[in-house]
Amino acid sequence: MDAESVRAEVRAWLEANWSPELSLVEWRNKLADSGWGCPTWPVEWYGRGLSPSLAEVANEEFEKIGAVGTPGGGGMGLAAPTILEHGSDDLKRRLLRRIVTGEDTWCQLFSEPGSGSDLAGLTTRAELSADGDEYVVNGQKLWTTSAHHAKYGMLLARTNWDVPKHRGITYFALEMHQPGVVVKPLKQMNGHASFNEVFLNDARVPAANAIGDVGNGWTVALATLAHERRSFDVLQRAARSARGQGRAYDEQRAETTQIMAPYTWYPQRAGRADLIVERAQATGKARDPVVRQEIAKLLALARATEWTAKRARAARMAGRPPGPEGSLGKLYASEIARACSRVHTLITGTDALLSGADGPLEGVIAEILVSVPAVSIAGGTDEIQRNIVSERVLGLPKDPDIDTKKPFRDVPRNKR
Ligand SMILES: Cc1cc2nc3c(=O)[nH]c(=O)nc-3n(C[C@H](O)[C@H](O)[C@H](O)COP(=O)(O)OP(=O)(O)OC[C@H]3O[C@@H](n4cnc5c(N)ncnc54)[C@H](O)[C@@H]3O)c2cc1C
Repeated sequence: MDAESVRAEVRAWLEANWSPELSLVEWRNKLADSGWGCPTWPVEWYGRGLSPSLAEVANEEFEKIGAVGTPGGGGMGLAAPTILEHGSDDLKRRLLRRIVTGEDTWCQLFSEPGSGSDLAGLTTRAELSADGDEYVVNGQKLWTTSAHHAKYGMLLARTNWDVPKHRGITYFALEMHQPGVVVKPLKQMNGHASFNEVFLNDARVPAANAIGDVGNGWTVALATLAHERRSFDVLQRAARSARGQGRAYDEQRAETTQIMAPYTWYPQRAGRADLIVERAQATGKARDPVVRQEIAKLLALARATEWTAKRARAARMAGRPPGPEGSLGKLYASEIARACSRVHTLITGTDALLSGADGPLEGVIAEILVSVPAVSIAGGTDEIQRNIVSERVLGLPKDPDIDTKKPFRDVPRNKR
């Protein structure tokens, strides 16, 4: 199909089917049936099998008419592409449609108190029950964004302790609303509670909910992580489309508010380069040569990073393999966030420490100051990102390999 025939077909379909008076679920069921909600997905699984660039043409028509699209969040951004790549047909049938309609939201149960950067060192265990139908899960997860409302969790658990650490992990779709899954919010120093601790005490997961083969969870997790970088695009698109009047819009606004809640302070506020010039003018600091110099450096950095991201996106659309731009973009997002915080503080002076309603910009400057470290931790730390750039982009020698060959049972680790 060429761009013009996609455009004509999707426009005709939207004119015949879109109505803001439909409920969100009614509308999204139409999207799932037609394949227009997820145009790059296979035709047999709610998609149209289009290339990313043709899918973009379809998305443009949605934006023009103002039609609501599929939901943002971990379901569409992370779980669905992972299930499409590695899930059985049974799982695709049971799980994908409800992700497209937004009825099931998802969270990512990867990190644990003793395994973040070294994700393959996880110790949450899943043991097969005597009848072989289900696994019994015990352990603790940490930093789990959105766990408090998620219907499912993307769970990594150890199913074999007698093989090296990367080979004994299995990836499951875990139902969150069951006895044995306890979700506790974690209060951060900026006052928000964006993520949670999740305690798993004899929680149950059907053996049929393994995504990919038992013991092959590491490969499946890498697929999820590869999609993580892109999932913020999905969120932003969902937030942009929720503008009109009518039932579908109202329900989408409520959905987006819930999905976006953990992000209201991060990373938007942490990386607010756009606030800087306005703030410098309002405080009279725009005339200070040192402040002007710092602002110029920051804006140049922000603009170069934006263009690099655009280059990466264009390469993806053209079907080229990922280049170094993605890794550099993640590193520079942290660099810009830190630079923004530095310049905001330079402009504000010691008042930057005043939090709450009495602080500058009603406390936003202080909030930026304490929120910035999260940007260089979430989704992989700066140090790990530098390791990736050095090993995979620059071809430098790898980190010393001390525990990837022996059975995980014999690897020394902290007792819990
Ligand atoms: C805002 C936010 C949201 C998050 N959401 C989720 C979520 O929804 N689900 C989820 O599962 N997790 C989530 N996380 C967790 C996140 O993925 C981990 O915090 C991250 O991977 C780092 O792991 P860690 O905290 O265990 O740090 P550690 O791995 O203990 O690292 C501590 C320090 O040591 C450095 N270090 C470790 N290994 C090396 C090495 N080999 N070389 C050089 N330096 C090294 C690290 O860079 C870091 O500076 C979230 C985190 C944040 C901040």
